[in-house]
Formats: sequence, structure tokens, C-alpha cells
Amino acid sequence: MFVSVAIDLALDRLFTYSVPVEFTEKLRVGQLLRVPFGGREARGFALSIQEDLKGFNGLDGLNGVKEANREEQVGLRDATARQACLAGFEDLERSSGPKIKPILGIVDEAPFFSPALLKLVKWIATYTATPIETCLKTAVPAVVLKPSARPKEMLYVAPAIPLANGEKLTKHQHELLSEIARVGGGWLQPLCRELKTTPSTLKALAQKGCVSIAPRVARRDPLAGRAVMPTTPLPLNDCQAAALKTILSSDHPSSLSSEHARTTSGQNILLHGVTGSGKTEIYLQAIAHELAQGRGAIVLVPEIALTPQTVRRFAGRFGTRVAVLHSALSDGERYDEWHRIRTGSARVVVGPRSAVFAPVRDLGLIVVDEEHDGSYKQDESPRYHARDVAVMRGRIEGARVVLGSATPSLESWLNVQRGKYVLASLPARVADRSLPTVHLVNLEEEVQATGHLPVYSKFLLDAIALRLRRGEQTILFLNRRGYSRVLQCKHCGWIAACPNCIGHDDGSGDPALPYTYHEADHCLRCHVCGDWRHVPTECPSCHARDFAYTGIGTQRAESILRRCFPKARILRMDADSTSRKMSHDDILSAFRARQADILLGTQMIAKGLDFPNVTLVGVLNADTSLNLPDFRASERTYQLLAQVSGRAGRADKPGEVFIQTFSPEAPAVKAAADGSTYAAFADAELKARREGPYPPYCHLATLVFRAKDEGLSASWANLYARALAGYAAKFNARLPADSVQVATSAPASPPTSRFFVSEAVPAALAKAEGWYRHQIVLRAPAAKDLVAAVKWIRAARPVPEGLRLSFDVDALNLL
Ligand code: ADP
Ligand code: ZN
Ligand code: ZN
Repeated sequence: MFVSVAIDLALDRLFTYSVPVEFTEKLRVGQLLRVPFGGREARGFALSIQEDLKGFNGLDGLNGVKEANREEQVGLRDATARQACLAGFEDLERSSGPKIKPILGIVDEAPFFSPALLKLVKWIATYTATPIETCLKTAVPAVVLKPSARPKEMLYVAPAIPLANGEKLTKHQHELLSEIARVGGGWLQPLCRELKTTPSTLKALAQKGCVSIAPRVARRDPLAGRAVMPTTPLPLNDCQAAALKTILSSDHPSSLSSEHARTTSGQNILLHGVTGSGKTEIYLQAIAHELAQGRGAIVLVPEIALTPQTVRRFAGRFGTRVAVLHSALSDGERYDEWHRIRTGSARVVVGPRSAVFAPVRDLGLIVVDEEHDGSYKQDESPRYHARDVAVMRGRIEGARVVLGSATPSLESWLNVQRGKYVLASLPARVADRSLPTVHLVNLEEEVQATGHLPVYSKFLLDAIALRLRRGEQTILFLNRRGYSRVLQCKHCGWIAACPNCIGHDDGSGDPALPYTYHEADHCLRCHVCGDWRHVPTECPSCHARDFAYTGIGTQRAESILRRCFPKARILRMDADSTSRKMSHDDILSAFRARQADILLGTQMIAKGLDFPNVTLVGVLNADTSLNLPDFRASERTYQLLAQVSGRAGRADKPGEVFIQTFSPEAPAVKAAADGSTYAAFADAELKARREGPYPPYCHLATLVFRAKDEGLSASWANLYARALAGYAAKFNARLPADSVQVATSAPASPPTSRFFVSEAVPAALAKAEGWYRHQIVLRAPAAKDLVAAVKWIRAARPVPEGLRLSFDVDALNLL
């Protein structure tokens, strides 16, 4: 018997071992094994098992992935170490059957991966062009694999049965015994505190056989000490009931253990419900249904929304059957939660993107809440998207997948149109609560009226003053994103945009794709097509010579606010404020407890928060995200504005929203002003995407080059861009003639089946932590086309030492 093993060294290949007869009975795929490797012992996962070596080269078709992501492999990075390591071991390439070494042992007989999860991880490895070992590592919490990790044991005192034998006891001992019997026992230390006694006193009792003191496994509970109120299912309104029915009526395909995942439609549901429409209650009832059938569930939420408030809603309904996985857990808690899931004592998992790998048995349902959220995409290797992984896992395991959002991603919306997902809609808020009234404040008019660009318009200031008088709360949202900078005229709001790229300013009101401002050489560059130009001397629209390169910061917005309302209590929440004195949760609890009148913050405050006393939401600068040099700018702006607006008027008091913008006519802004027009917005936006083509009508990937030496990074980026352009030309020429559109009256839009390669562009953040960065954007009909092209060039032109290359399939970040 032979087994192919993925060793935890990111060598990007599998190794074959023989299986001594004493292990053949117990060996399973997914187990962690001890194996000899290069003269020492290593650990690795069993990926496949076979009786003989026929057709079994242990490389499992993953060989080709070898070159991809080489720069991201940990350890053994330099050639000598690799060589030394490889020299000591014998594999099938160099030796035939008899020299294969035997495995040394099985670390844990319970497999860490079910066959279905292994299949899922293999899919990720192929799709993202990442070594399988790296993907396996992502799918199991590191603490679970630590050789030293184990359950925590503490001494537990239990009353002995039958009680008191002939031993003589003091009066005090008698009292203690009856107390212990009354409380039913407990952990030694807390029990001593409770009974005001000492461990040695109890040990004396144990010696007389009146109680037993023995180690027991003590669960490290992340929810310990939190008050969780049990809840019962709410009676659903008609829309909710219909949506739940749609979810449950999708037939339950039987679990697939075979090699062939089947493509069933009808089991993926897009739950499109406006903010406050009661999506969570539907998740809860769908989960209850699965539990009643003996199946488990996973609920993914964006990390930022994984607040105690969210966890409480699930724990309140399902109690200890809920396991929570998130980054703030201690290692011990994570270890215990993971094992509770694997053993089946927890059946519902709530967590951020990595929870999609939770080893839930008999998985019946995966919920991806706020499915449009960018945090589902991992920004390091493997660069998987948890929503896509959830859909794939559902397909492999025959589980339902519910994607919920008030503002679905265009990827998911297109999947509804293509019949891949079933749509369930909740068009109204629960209990006849109305959606907030949205006012657009035209900043251009404000500039004309006041002669300068105000941070707060008069309308917004008046509205805030009214809330302060009424004792209601206000949320102010400031859109501020990373390092991307665009060039904007301070007087008329004109934005420098690429004439070659999406929806350029043709008067249709479509947002243009702005140039990114590069400080290093004072240039404007397009990150999609590579076009560049110098910064103009004056605004082509109003001839002013006054440009802004960045937006306002939260700190400045706060100080202005304090000057306008000296008596108001203001809380600020952004990346800087949360790392300091108060945590994210502290700030939100303080605001909830009405210890502040105004909460001012960035993206962080946009998601999933439910504050009953908030009746006003102000968006200071809607344009910042609208003008991001990214073809998703319009979609993201819509999502942000709709989510932020959704924070207003959640309870019985009606809400009001003010959106300050230079582009009141932009479709994303107009649509966000009226939540019911999502479909119209999405359809118009999809039309523009198809023209590009941009995702979801094609797949897009980025290749990012990083080097300490600017010339090295630039020259290799250029070399790759040229070579890939040649590859693309061949790719496009091979297409059948009928896929190339012939110009009729209007200029033909490029067929979506073509391969596009941008020029090499210095990244917006041209230098980060001493590394220069250049980028190429690729677009192709399928993700596998992108992977094939990049594998080809990496094999043909392996990058030198000192140059790091990362490849992001379905990249969400183009900056
Ligand atoms: P969403 O997730 O769509 O934003 P929530 O699930 O948070 O909406 O629901 C908003 C509020 O409405 C919550 O306080 C929830 O308890 C309440 N709610 C949900 N469904 C019902 C219902 N059927 N009847 C009464 N209240 C409900
Ligand atoms: Zn362009
Ligand atoms: Zn201007």
C-alpha cells in the first residue's frame, strides 16, 4: 500500500511513501502522518492511498503548480536549502518502487480533513495556483496541528456515590459533604472559593472516599461569562415566510462522496433583503430546520460584523450547539471550538471567511451573510474567496448555500440571471418600519454658494443640530480608502479619468475610471489599461488651478465637528482610534448605551450595526469611493451608501440620510438614494461591465512584482507584460471565427471571450516597506486561462532571486 503525502514545507509537490502493514488498517486520507524526510522526521497529510504504484506518481497532477507562488513559500526559499533537503529523500522521479520509504506513524487517527474537504482544498489549490500544502494549512487552525496542543484538564470534585461509608467525619466535614452534594460537585479551585475551604480539606475527604477528585476536560468557552438570553423563533411576515420556503424547498441533494461534484441548480439561494428586513431570522429558522434533520450549518459573517451582538443572536437560539471561530479567540478556545465541531458536539459554526473550512459533519447549510463583502477574499496566499468556496463546498457536500445581502455583488446577481442561483427577496423592512428618507446634497452648489468646499454642508449641520435637540443619535460616515489617490478639481469636482476605460465621461452619467495619482513622478496612470499622462496645469472643466489629491481625514472631520457643536459628545472610530484606548466593541457599546450623540467613522461603522436611537446618517464624501480607480467603484459606492443609510431609523423612529456628493447624477448615488432600485442599478452596471469586458463577464487577475531594486521590478514587469501580450494574441487568434464580432453600425464591443493584458504599471503605492511594486492586470474568459498563461510565463522566464511575484486570480483590489 502506498500513500501520497503533502508535507508541510510548501515544496509544492507530493511525496510517496509505502505503508507498513501495521498501519494499513488504520490509514485514512486526511490523516496527519509522520514521515521520514531528508534525514529527519516531518509531518504531512495523507492525500491519497493506493494498493500499488500503477499510474500513481504521487504528484497528483499538481506538479504544474510548482512554479506558481514560489515567492510565497515559507522556508526553504533559497536554492541551497531546497537542494539539501531534496538530496536526502527519494521519490518516484529518481527511484523506482523498492526504494520508497515507509511512513513512521499516524499522528491522530481522526482525519483532519474529510474526503469532501480534501477535495475542496484541492480545488482551491488549482483555482488559485497555490501549493496544496499552503491551502491545507489555511484550512486548519494552526493551534490544532501543534504537537503540544491538547484539551485543558482541571481537577473536578464529584460527590462519591454511595455517600458516606463507615468513616468518622467531623461536623465541619459533614457540612462540607452535604454542601458538595447539594451543588453537585465542581472544579476544585472555584468550589473551594465557594465553600470557603481549602484543597487540602477536600483532599482529606477524598482520602476517606467521600468525594472523588480527578482531572476532567474543561472547555475553554469563548462565550463564558457572557449573558446570552435564550430566544424563540419569531412569527415570520409573509415575505420572510416565502423566502424561507424558497430556501427549504430547494431539494436536498444527497451527500456526494464520489469524485464527481454535480452541478445542481436550485440549491444556491441569493437572499436579497433590504437592511432591517429580517434576514437573520430567516437564517436562524433555516438552521433550526437543518438541526432537526440531524444536519449542521456554517454561518459566515464579515470579520468586522462578528460582534458580540451577532454571536448572541445565534447562541441565544442554539445555545451550546454554537461554536464561534474568530481571530480574537485564544489558542485554547480555538482548539476546543474546532474539536467540538469535529466531534459533532457543536453543530452550528459562526465565523469569518476561514470558518468555511470548519469540519462540520453532515453539513446541510452554509449561510454567507453580507455576501458582497470584500473581507471574504483572503489577501494572502491562497487568495481564495470564501463565498466561492462556500458555493463549491455546498456542491461537493450537497449542502444548501444561502448568500444574503442588501446589496448583492454583481457576480451573484449575474448568477441569478443565468439561473445558477435562485432569488428570494425581502423588499421591505419588518413590522412596517420604513426605509429612511435619503437626501442628496450637491457639493458643487455648496461650493458656489460658500466659495469653498465644506466638510459639512449647511443641510447636514442643521439636521445634526435637530438630533442633538431631540436627544437622538447621529452616525457620520467618512469614506477613506488606503493609498489610492485621484486628482480632483477643488472647485468643480472634476476628476482626471482614463479615456480608454470603463464608462468614460460620455455624458451618460456613468462614472469614469479615474487615473491614479503617482506621487513619485507626479503622473496619472490608469491601472487597468496602463495609459499615463502628466498632471494637467489647470482643470479642463473650469480652468481652476487648484487640485486636491486626497480626501479629508476622520481626525479633521472630528475637530471641525467639535467646533460646530462644542457640547456634543462625539465618538470617532477608524483604524487609528480602535488600536488605541478603546476597542471596536467598547466604542460601539458606548454608543449603543447612548453615552455619545455622534459616531464618526470610516467603513467600519457601515456594516450590520443596529442602533435603535439613530435617526440620522450623514455621508460626508460619497465621491471618494465613486472615483476610485477601479471598475468596481460604482458597485462599491452603491453598496457603501446603501449599507450606511440602512443604519438610520432601525426602530420605530423614522430615519433620515444626507449624502454629500459632487455626482448626484451618478447611477450608484441615485440608486442608493432609493433602495428599491437595486435591480435597475445592477442591470445598468452589468451592461457597462459587459462592454469592457470586466468581471463578472470575464475573470480578472493581477500579477504584482516586488523588489528592493526599482529597476528589477520594472524590467521584469515589462518583460512579463510583453510576453503575456504575445500569449494573448495567440490565444485570441485561436478563437473560432464566429466569436470575433464584426463591426456593424456601432463600433463592436470586444467579445467577452478574449484575453487582455495591460501594460506594466507601477502600483499606486509605488514603494512599500522598501519594496518597489509593479503590476499587470490580466482578463480572460475563464480563471483557468489566467492560470495557464501565468504558469507558462513563469516556466519560460523564472523570476530571479530578489524578485517576488504574486498572482491573484479574481483579484478584488486593483491598487
Ligand atoms: P437584516 O439582517 O435583514 O438587516 P435583522 O434580521 O437584523 O435584519 O432584523 C431587523 C430587526 O427586526 C431585528 O431586531 C429582528 O429581531 C427583527 N425581526 C426580524 N424578523 C422579525 C419578525 N418576523 N417579526 C418581528 N421582528 C422581526
Ligand atoms: Zn485605462
Ligand atoms: Zn474644475
